[in-house]
Amino acid sequence: MSHTYDTVILGGGPAGYTAALYTSRAGLDTLLIEKLSPGGQMALTDIIDNYPGFDTGVDGFTLGMKMQSGAERFGTKTAYGEVLSVELAGEAKRIVTDSGEYFARTVILATGANPRTLGLANETEFVGRGVHYCAHCDGRFYKGKTVMVVGGGNSAASDALYLSHLAEKVILVHRRDTLRATKIYHQPLMEAKNVEFLWNSTVTQLHAEARLTSVTVTNRITGEAQEIPIDGFFVSVGRVPVTELYKGQIDLDEYGYVVADETTKTNLPGVFVAGDVRTKALRQVITAASDGAVAAHYAEEYLNQK
Ligand SMILES: Cc1cc2nc3c(=O)[nH]c(=O)nc-3n(C[C@H](O)[C@H](O)[C@H](O)COP(=O)(O)OP(=O)(O)OC[C@H]3O[C@@H](n4cnc5c(N)ncnc54)[C@H](O)[C@@H]3O)c2cc1C
Repeated sequence: MSHTYDTVILGGGPAGYTAALYTSRAGLDTLLIEKLSPGGQMALTDIIDNYPGFDTGVDGFTLGMKMQSGAERFGTKTAYGEVLSVELAGEAKRIVTDSGEYFARTVILATGANPRTLGLANETEFVGRGVHYCAHCDGRFYKGKTVMVVGGGNSAASDALYLSHLAEKVILVHRRDTLRATKIYHQPLMEAKNVEFLWNSTVTQLHAEARLTSVTVTNRITGEAQEIPIDGFFVSVGRVPVTELYKGQIDLDEYGYVVADETTKTNLPGVFVAGDVRTKALRQVITAASDGAVAAHYAEEYLNQK
């Protein structure tokens, strides 16, 4: 008979390792499965200065390693491998990875959500060097500078508004002639003196030396292209939740996020969801960590009631 863990956590970002810290510290036999390295998306960022406790900021990779060792101190085991399939209904949950299969009484889903890219040449190469996917994380680097935001939904509108309080000028590029964002963003954006709109337009090229220097924007109707010098480029065209594995088993919303409220409880008993992959308003390290703690609490409660 295979070993059955009290809790198996899928994903080793801040949500996963915080959940692991709490379940291990509560004495639960915990396994965390991660396909890359600890830290998840935060490991991609040079400096995190909106996570409390680090008065001069911390680089995301170091924070990820610290979260891992903090959880392993209390007994969390990490298995490196990619989760290929899951069976989450029923009392015994089965997780199949490319390096073996595992069984658990509870599962915490913490596989995150990746920012959607534009697919431009150079785009990934210049992430952190002028190209950004998170205005609330990186906007502060552009105080008094010129930035561009691409997108037309709520997150683009909210990012443009946020950046308008920091940057000297914000250029919002949208491929349609009106925003899809809800009305609450329209008025303040239209009234902001330092926000300029480029409608019916797409960014077709990024120009960079050591870092991004300008972009080419092409009007979709006239075909006219112009090169615009900018300091920062914020891509805000949505995220892709990593939920392919759970389709057909767990309730997902229309965008593919796992549906759960602040309790992190999914529609399946014994299955909890933490971090960016959950339906929520703010996707940040601190909210991911917070979810991890809550998910561990309810996993423990679930096991105690068995
Ligand atoms: C460039 C960038 C900069 C950012 N800067 C900041 C910042 O300064 N401050 C801030 O608060 N937030 C920042 N964020 C947001 C923050 O990183 C995320 O909100 C946070 O990492 C979400 O944590 P998570 O644990 O939910 O998911 P993630 O960090 O995405 O972790 C999910 C983990 O699951 C693993 N995984 C996925 N699928 C599988 C599978 N099938 N098998 C095994 N493992 C799997 C992934 O490899 C990953 O490690 C930034 C994001 C980006 C992209």
